[in-house]
Amino acid sequence: MSYTIVSDICEGKADCIPVCPVDCIHWAEGKANAKGTKYPSIDNETCIDCGACLAACPVEGAILDEWKPELQKV
Ligand code: SF4
Ligand code: SF4
Repeated sequence: MSYTIVSDICEGKADCIPVCPVDCIHWAEGKANAKGTKYPSIDNETCIDCGACLAACPVEGAILDEWKPELQKV
């Protein structure tokens, strides 16, 4: 399984990126979401479901504790 970043809810604060123990959260280079901000995405094949990103994220609903690929842009 994997966590999911809901691309269009994310506000690009990047608090999630440094706390990931397996470094599987990376910016979607050169792209903007529905809010007009840059956003990172989770590599679902590397994610270990630790929950650190969700705990660090200040934006309600921006990270889900399940894999929903239709909600995460790449
Ligand atoms: S998922 Fe949350 S912590 Fe990560 S960049 Fe988006 S708003 Fe910031
Ligand atoms: S759940 Fe853990 S391993 Fe998965 S993206 Fe978030 S911080 Fe990284």
